Amino acid sequence: MKVIEQVSLMQSIGKDALRPLVFVPTMGALHEGHATLIRHARKLATQNGTVVVSIFLNPKQFNVTKDLELYPRPFAADQLLCQQAGTDLIFHPSVAAMYPSDTSIEIEEKDLSLSLCGASRPGHFKGVVTVLTKLFNIVNPDQVLLGEKDWQQLTIARRLVRDLNFPIEIIPHPTVRESDGLAMSSRNARLSPLERIEASKIYAALKKTRARTIEGESDVSILLASTRRDLEAISNATIDYLEVVDERTLIPLAKVLHGTTPARLLVAVKMGETRLIDNIRLAEKISINFPT
Ligand code: AMP
Repeated sequence: MKVIEQVSLMQSIGKDALRPLVFVPTMGALHEGHATLIRHARKLATQNGTVVVSIFLNPKQFNVTKDLELYPRPFAADQLLCQQAGTDLIFHPSVAAMYPSDTSIEIEEKDLSLSLCGASRPGHFKGVVTVLTKLFNIVNPDQVLLGEKDWQQLTIARRLVRDLNFPIEIIPHPTVRESDGLAMSSRNARLSPLERIEASKIYAALKKTRARTIEGESDVSILLASTRRDLEAISNATIDYLEVVDERTLIPLAKVLHGTTPARLLVAVKMGETRLIDNIRLAEKISINFPT
């Protein structure tokens, strides 16, 4: 496994790499969720292809400076995890290499980014879309693996690839969870022991809501009222947002209609100072066709 820091070197290696080149973009502080994505990337690439993992803590997607400062940077442990999961190349550029001081172009998505995390984190998705565009141009992947935990990010990345005609396939990976259901996240390490125990109740609330839709409740206001009650009962938790949306367009839904609209419940909860996100599909057993 090689570590590449230079943008121009990554770009020339990415151009000549054995195909398929499967890419997993990350911000580091890697955990088992990332390892699962990388192992899946290895399978997709086969032994003949190339797996690239980027580790770049992108300052442009942090709207709160303290959040960026608190973000862990355990690069030695990250390298080991990447190696064990089957990575060929780590791309680990500096901030200066990615953003020359007179950088003056950014990419902005103007529809899907406005709600949910975009509403509570102004500028966040401009940073995400800009860095993904740069990484796609530098790494030159055939396939990019993204986690369903960040559902809005996944949806926006699909739109980016479609609207800017990147010859790239975005491949979603299901959320990897701790044994008690909490979605794995680099931010979980910031939870106090009590918050960590309480945090597992977020996914329990989401699962309960899904169960209610399967039993036949379709009215979103009724579903959200009881989910809200369950989330508010978690100690130290405050709800940032809680919405049921069409998972392809992120447009809020009034009804969960099985068999037609793929409905997804998305939530952001602050546990003390730590903001956690999660989501769950509500309407089961339907085929999803993303707009291409
Ligand atoms: P991050 O480093 O947090 O930006 O995450 C890098 C990639 O890993 C993104 O595509 C995330 O959606 C994905 N990811 C992070 N945590 C998980 C998880 N628990 N399950 C699945 N994918 C994840």
